[in-house]
Amino acid sequence: MSVPPTVEPPAPSPALSPALSVVVPAFDEAEVLPAFAARLRPVLDGLLAEGLGGYEVLVVDDGSTDATPVVLARLRRDWPQLRVVRLRANSGHQAALSAGLARARARGGVVTMDADLQDPPEVLPRLLAAAGRGHDVVYAVREDRSVDSRLKRLTAAAFYRLVRTLGGRAPEQAGDFRFTHRTVVDTVLQLPEAHRVLRLVIPELGFASTTVGYAREARSAGRTKYPLTRMLRLSLDAITGSSTAPLRLASFFGLGGALLTSLLLLYALVSFALGQTVPGWTSTLAVVAGVGTLQLLCLGVLGEYVGRLYVQLQQRPTYLVASDSLEEGP
Ligand code: UDP
Ligand code: MG
Repeated sequence: MSVPPTVEPPAPSPALSPALSVVVPAFDEAEVLPAFAARLRPVLDGLLAEGLGGYEVLVVDDGSTDATPVVLARLRRDWPQLRVVRLRANSGHQAALSAGLARARARGGVVTMDADLQDPPEVLPRLLAAAGRGHDVVYAVREDRSVDSRLKRLTAAAFYRLVRTLGGRAPEQAGDFRFTHRTVVDTVLQLPEAHRVLRLVIPELGFASTTVGYAREARSAGRTKYPLTRMLRLSLDAITGSSTAPLRLASFFGLGGALLTSLLLLYALVSFALGQTVPGWTSTLAVVAGVGTLQLLCLGVLGEYVGRLYVQLQQRPTYLVASDSLEEGP
């Protein structure tokens, strides 16, 4: 496994392991966390009353710069099941999720969800019920996302269409709100990919899975931490992570370009032999510009993959844990 020992969690002690870990990445979410806790806790305590064998809520503070650590410390005072893992720097949603999975102690399984209440805690019992019927992975799929912006919905639709065209198996409208059985979590943690996009990697593993529908709620407070640039980065990671088709596409482009150019060359030679001058410079310019663009495009595609190979070879951790409230004691 390529993740260095610095981020390797201590082996969970079976005696202390709760049945369920809820992993929540949070970056600058001080405004929503109190409301989030107030809604999640009754749901989990309700499950406890119904016989759930213990739970922990593991909030991964992804290097927040607002009052998130203070708010979490305050919430922890009267919620013993709340555990906070703080990352040294803002490492991104996917890295924060990975950190949470690596540290989760649950023997049964892990639910991952956002901190902003866009993933309603009330869906959790339905996820667990579906898991109880023998599914290793249960995706919460957004049946109604009218609260999301037009841009968000459009880009999301384009993203999933592209992923499926490239051979990915991600269920439609499933984000990172899902239940994963302990076996699935352990399998994911074994994968050496540095930039794994969990919502695409997990379906590839082929575990028994099902979906549970829900209506996406509006962000309860604060602003999205996913501006367009971050969405683009996630898409690039997803595409290069799950398919080498763009590389092949680049070769096809190159081949097509070469074919076109040779036809043009032939035309110029024939014109020359017949004593006709090649008319105008427009065509020349068009060819130069066209071929130049194609080359840049293909180089760009290559660059994306070479860059990822490089990052993978460096074997740097995608996140570093600064503290874990579990190790500090209550
Ligand atoms: N998040 C994170 N690190 C980041 C960006 C986001 O941990 O660098 C968390 C964020 O706090 C939230 C979840 O990832 O719990 C989803 O982010 P957000 O709600 O901003 O994304 P959106 O719902 O707008 O796609
Ligand atoms: Mg959100």
